[in-house]
Amino acid sequence: MRYCVVGAGLSGAVIARSLGEAGHKVLVVDERSHLGGNCHSARDPETGVMTHIYGPHIFHTSNERVWSYVTRFAEMRPYNHRVVAVAKSGVYSLPLNLMTINQFFKRCMGPAEARAFIASKVRKIEEPRNFEEQALALMGEELYEAFFKGYTSKQWGMSPTDLPASVLKRLPARFDYNDSYFAHHYQAIPSGGYTAMAENILRAPNVEVRLNCRFEELSENFAHVFYSGPLDRFFGFRLGRLGYRTLDFERMIDKGDFQGAAVINYCDADVPFTRITEHKYFAPWEKDNFDMTLCYREYSRAAGAQDIPYYPIRLANEQKLLRSYIELAQATEKVSFVGRLGTYRYLDMDVTIEEALAASDRLLELIARGEAP
Ligand code: UDP
Repeated sequence: MRYCVVGAGLSGAVIARSLGEAGHKVLVVDERSHLGGNCHSARDPETGVMTHIYGPHIFHTSNERVWSYVTRFAEMRPYNHRVVAVAKSGVYSLPLNLMTINQFFKRCMGPAEARAFIASKVRKIEEPRNFEEQALALMGEELYEAFFKGYTSKQWGMSPTDLPASVLKRLPARFDYNDSYFAHHYQAIPSGGYTAMAENILRAPNVEVRLNCRFEELSENFAHVFYSGPLDRFFGFRLGRLGYRTLDFERMIDKGDFQGAAVINYCDADVPFTRITEHKYFAPWEKDNFDMTLCYREYSRAAGAQDIPYYPIRLANEQKLLRSYIELAQATEKVSFVGRLGTYRYLDMDVTIEEALAASDRLLELIARGEAP
């Protein structure tokens, strides 16, 4: 009997390949017309620029297994992600680093002095209960108000006092001039785009891919299904809908350069978009080949039933609903839920690949022991 993988994003591609390479027949279906899920990239027909269609994706990892995996399927070009932030009419560097702190406070401090300076500004909160308290405990009021309060309210559509402290933990604060957005050892972007990488992963023995095909349309019986679609959708939303933020992208093209950086965050609450991305900067090796430039303004809002789900909103209500769906999932035999949508978590690409490798390892082990079909 065949195996089925629902979704041709990174999770699905990795799992399908592992099973196919082990000699098992696999059908991969995706309702979209392309591979790669939300990391899909394609050349923009008008400008020629390689575009991250569902928003920017920068690959970063310190996991050796994951790194050696991706380098099998793509030429990974070094890409050091830096973010420019516009706040209260000034232009700064993010994540918060010595440059940001010195420029913002118009000082010229070294690391130790800056540490003491920020320590004098922070609010002493033993156990921060939400995003705002976490920020105040880390950086104090002025930096929080300038860089985080407005942006976070726009991004999540709610007050930072209603968000969990964990959202901020993704972003470090540094007391040196390291302005690299990520701290991982390997940071890169595939030279041919993520979709080509997914295609290479899926070009494997025993793997059949069917695009424009909804899982719900299939009538075949499968030995096991790996489902990377939305968890609540698998169960027909019978307990309710898990909340997501979606993004609207406003396209802009211009001659030459528009903003001189891949990403500029707009931190003030009165600017309606969160950031502008200029896509040729995600491919510095070919950036100067293009006369035109392509940018997107990003607007975040609550996802409706027809919208593309991007960021899971994991507040108390959603957590409760999620627990009920997880119970249903655990009681569902011969189906594994994987990936960002299948597990309703905000996942970076490297973690997605790591977990997909682990999921297929697990099934292959069970098959080898005769404990799974
Ligand atoms: N954030 C912010 N200002 C910024 C960048 C990020 O307030 O200029 C907050 C925001 O709440 C965001 C969180 O920090 O959701 C994590 O940032 P990250 O860059 O990881 O966001 P993502 O990858 O989710 O876009």
